[in-house]
Amino acid sequence: MKKFIILICLIALTISPNYALFQLNNPMEISASTINETIDQLLIKYPEHIAVEIIGYSVENQPIKVLRISNDIHSTDLTIRYNQNKKNSLFLAGLHAKEVITPLVFLEIVNDNLEALVNGDEAIKSTLDNNIIHFIPLMNPDGFDLAKHGEVHEIFGSDFNEYLKANTNGVDLNNNFPDKFYDLELGQWHSIEEKAHLHSNYISYEPSVAYYWGTEIQPETEAVVEYMKRCYFEYFVDLHSQGDYIYWDHWHLSDIFREENLNFAMKIQEISTSNDFPYAYELGERNIAEAPHGFGYSTAYFASLYDNPAITLEVARLSNLPYATSDHYYEAINRLKDIFIELDNYKVEHSPHRVYKDQELFSDYSHEEYAKAVAKEINGLYIYDSGDLKTYSGNVINPNLFNNLSIFFNRKLSSLIIETIEQIKSTPQ
Ligand SMILES: [Zn+2]
Repeated sequence: MKKFIILICLIALTISPNYALFQLNNPMEISASTINETIDQLLIKYPEHIAVEIIGYSVENQPIKVLRISNDIHSTDLTIRYNQNKKNSLFLAGLHAKEVITPLVFLEIVNDNLEALVNGDEAIKSTLDNNIIHFIPLMNPDGFDLAKHGEVHEIFGSDFNEYLKANTNGVDLNNNFPDKFYDLELGQWHSIEEKAHLHSNYISYEPSVAYYWGTEIQPETEAVVEYMKRCYFEYFVDLHSQGDYIYWDHWHLSDIFREENLNFAMKIQEISTSNDFPYAYELGERNIAEAPHGFGYSTAYFASLYDNPAITLEVARLSNLPYATSDHYYEAINRLKDIFIELDNYKVEHSPHRVYKDQELFSDYSHEEYAKAVAKEINGLYIYDSGDLKTYSGNVINPNLFNNLSIFFNRKLSSLIIETIEQIKSTPQ
């Protein structure tokens, strides 16, 4: 019998995954400061491939960090919004307090990929030659700590731990994004809140463990909203951990956008089974009557403003407190470990309806009307251009010339106008 147990242990040791960062026997042991220490370790381990920046502070003044992962990250120009040489993508984790494994899963995946890179893996090398992966591992550090160790709280009372999604002000950050959208049928801007209220069972009208949207933007939300402005992100993935599911449908946006977002969700679904996992992440159904159950989502905000793919990915079956186990953790890592490489092969459709702001590409839109509405809203410039996305350099277009005109011209005409402007500029007065 003893021999048998030793044999079983040996087998378990050989097949159990060997991930370096967190030996996750008990999620309760991991705090926000453990996450920060781990980020520091990664920075020491891969100084050429990771840059870290503090993008804001939580209610309790804990830093919120972003990791930028790429080859030669320190020589990459991050001052321009759209980089023609590298695709930018954004991943966010740790928004909901009780969903404890997601920050760890993705830090582990980052480490795993960079280890492969250092060991000469060509696939990840090529991915990181072409991409900058932006990853915010822990948006809600206060909630992350409180869900595990808080006993009594002035807003939440006691025994709140397994229900806690909110930050320490009792605001659910995934109802706190200032989302609004341009209603193509009515020709006006609407807040999603206005529409979703009527349908939702998931609303709290006062500070609570979940579903309270808050009367003002929280510092954690603001940090992420501001960071979204920094780059043209090809897509945005918000990582949660409550059930093998992909929420993809933004019912309030155009069919063209919804189709594109569904394709993106299906790509993630495909990735989730690529390492021999027998079941795929489930996709939400397209059902308008059921879909508008909430508002203020990070993904709805991103999709409505930038019109690029945005999904909520629930990385594992019920892996919240108190149910999170190391099995969920290792399973999620194994399913998603190639996500960066796989998504490098996914080509986001770029649309010809483009908006520029301060001579930078703001975004491209699947609808002309929508693009024009955004341009007006942000005091930007609408341009029709079916060529590659690009940044116009400061000297080429002076937006003040066009600001109040609704410009609709094709690529050839645009270059003709640009030439004419340059001629006018270079003609002595
Ligand atoms: Zn969540």
